[in-house]
Formats: sequence, structure tokens, C-alpha cells
Amino acid sequence: MQRRNVTLKLYPNAARAARLEAWTRLHCELYNAALEERVVAWRKAGKSISDFDQQNILPQIKADRPEFVELGSHALQQTLRRPDRAFQSFFRRVKAGQTPGFRRFKAGKWFSGFAYPDPAGWKLMQHGGRGATLRIGSGDTALSVRARGLHRFGDQAKPNDITLTRKGGGWFVSVTLRVPDAACARERTADMRRGLDFGINDWATFDEGPPIANPRWVREELPRLAALQRQRARKRKGSVRHKRLGHGIARLHDGISNRRRDFVHKATTRLVQQCAVLATEQLTPKTMSRSAKGTAETPGRRVRQKAGLNREILSAGFGMAHPMLAYKAEEAGTRLHLSNTRQLKPSQRCAACWEIVPKTLADRMRVCPHCGHVMQRDQNSALVVLIDAFNTQDTPGTGVAARPKPLPRQRGKSRSVTRETPATTPCV
Ligand SMILES: [Zn+2]
Repeated sequence: MQRRNVTLKLYPNAARAARLEAWTRLHCELYNAALEERVVAWRKAGKSISDFDQQNILPQIKADRPEFVELGSHALQQTLRRPDRAFQSFFRRVKAGQTPGFRRFKAGKWFSGFAYPDPAGWKLMQHGGRGATLRIGSGDTALSVRARGLHRFGDQAKPNDITLTRKGGGWFVSVTLRVPDAACARERTADMRRGLDFGINDWATFDEGPPIANPRWVREELPRLAALQRQRARKRKGSVRHKRLGHGIARLHDGISNRRRDFVHKATTRLVQQCAVLATEQLTPKTMSRSAKGTAETPGRRVRQKAGLNREILSAGFGMAHPMLAYKAEEAGTRLHLSNTRQLKPSQRCAACWEIVPKTLADRMRVCPHCGHVMQRDQNSALVVLIDAFNTQDTPGTGVAARPKPLPRQRGKSRSVTRETPATTPCV
């Protein structure tokens, strides 16, 4: 049994959205009250209140304030656990001789949402296709909200717990599913072996074949973002117009990151579906923070304005791609090989003779002074990591493996995070 998370967008009508809003405020009130009790106990008596004590007051609270009843006791308990966790880390830091601040009280509008930690008190009904209904509570007071979203695990996946969150004015439910191992498996349609180099000019370059271009829409949105930010800078802080532009900027950021995540998901899915072996570099801070300046021949424009956002978007793109590749490779039976960048130096090493040639970023084409091998730089890197994958595999000896010599002391440093299994035939 595996756990998988899916997020569905909720479509409450105005009345139901108001109810969700009201529930969030009640959860926030409970959170702040529990926090206050703990802060007072600590300040006045220097002692901590246990989670157990606070959970025991819940029936009393529900008797005094009947509006809490429909929220469900497990959800209320879950909210009470939040200050508990905060205080545990607070006391841990006090013990360690640090001077931590108290956990801050939260205003209702900053309270992100609430959670149901087990399958009790709610029900998620999938209607086939993309439609679903989330029902919270039971009887006349139950709250039914339409949801949209689809997961690929079918009927065998059982929803285990949910978290409702508010983001950018919309509501989302994040569902943890318990999925049988068999339902997690992905089909693989080909047995390709590919080396892969993530970059900025192209999102991914392979040892052979066309690269995956870096999507243009991120760069296309940047002027709009900069314009909004300039407009906001002219408004008085705290004014309605400042706030309105702030919402616009947040929405644009959300849109960019949604499209980026969608793109990375689709690209990584396609990769593991095609490949029996995927080789790439280990993720290092250096590769994550590569300059946005471009190259000497094709310098980037608006480098300074871009740098901040680029760092965020691009690093998120690579940072997202690696974990996605890892779990999808496992599901598809693809061997994902991560080369040790420091030792292998894929961008400097010649894929033909295995010699290291230091060079600058400006060299788009790579000409090896030792053997005269000419190759595009990123393509060369991709080929080097692919060869590394063959050199370090448990059962050496096929195809390319025989070509260059393995690195000294290199064995065991690069590693494969998943194992290779034969391709599955697509079910018709
Ligand atoms: Zn060479």
C-alpha cells in the first residue's frame, strides 16, 4: 500500500463558500485560544499544558458553543494539535539553550484552512470523469461541494484524509489516497536509454535526438509581471489599489507556477514512459542557481529584473523535476541514474576520449583538443552521464559500456535511485 496525494479544486457556491469561510474562522479561533492558554500557562507558571488536557476540553467547548459541533471532532482535534506541535518545537529550542519566540496568533484571513486527519466526518464521491463531490458532516447540516480533478489510480484508491485550503480566493482539497502497489504502476512503452542534461536555453538536452525546449510562456509573462510591480510601487501601501495590484501579482505568480508544474509533470511522465534507463546529474546548488545571463553569443535581456524570478521559477523547475522523475521512474520500472557532478564533471569531460577540458560557458560547441571530437556542449554532458550510468551499473557489459574507461575511485559515488524492469505493454 502506498500513499499518494492529489489536489482537487472545489467549486462552492456563494453560500457554501461563506460556510467554509466561517468554519475556517472558528478553527482559527480555536487555534488562537489553545495557543493563548499555552502562552499564559508558560508565562505565569512556567509550565506546559499537554495536548491531552486541551483535547479534553473539546466536549465542553462544543456544549458552550454549538456552532463548533458541525466542524467535526476529528478536525477540531487536528487544529488543536497545531499549537501543540509548535510548542513542542518551542520547548525543544528552549532546552537547546536558544531563545525562540512564541508562536504568533493568526488573523482569520491568514489561517490557511483545516484538515480531517482520518476517513471520519467526510466523504469524497468520484463521479467518473473529472467530477467529484465532497461532503462534510452528515444529516441536514452536511456541506456538499462540487470538486474537479482526476487521479489515475481508479477505484482501488481509498481516500484517507483531507486538508481544505484557501488559496488566491479559491478553495482546494488535498486528498491523501491509500493506493495498492499494483495500481501505482505506470506502463512503459519503450526501452530507450537516454542521457539528459537540464538547462536554460533548452529545458532538457539528450545525448541524441531533439531537446525539450524551455517553454516560452514563462518568459512571455515577465513583462506583465514587471509592469504590475512597477504600477504597485507607485501606489500607497495599505491602499485599496495597492492591495488590488498585489492580488493581480499573486494571481500571475500562481498562473506561472501552475503552468510550470503542469509542464514538468507532463515532461517527466513522457520520459519515464519511454526509457528503461535515464541518466542525469545529481542535483547540486550550483546547477540549480545557474546564471540567467545566457551566453556571450546570446546574452539574456533584462537580466537583473529576471534574475530574481528566474531563480525561483527555474530552480523550482529543476527541483521539481528530480523528485518527480524519482517516483515516476520507480512506478514505471525505469532505472534513474544520478551522476556525481563533482567527480564526473560532465560538462568538461569528452564523451569520446573521457579527458577533462576546462572551458567557459561561451563554448556552445565543444571541440576536444585530445581527440578532435565535436559535439554540442549540453549534448556532450548528456552522453557523459549516460556512459556513467553504464559504467556504474551492477551488471556491466552491454553496448556503450565497453567504450570509455571507468573513472578511478568513481565507483559507488554515482548511484541509481531506482531499478530497471522490462517495459510493460500498453493495455488496450
Ligand atoms: Zn576527446
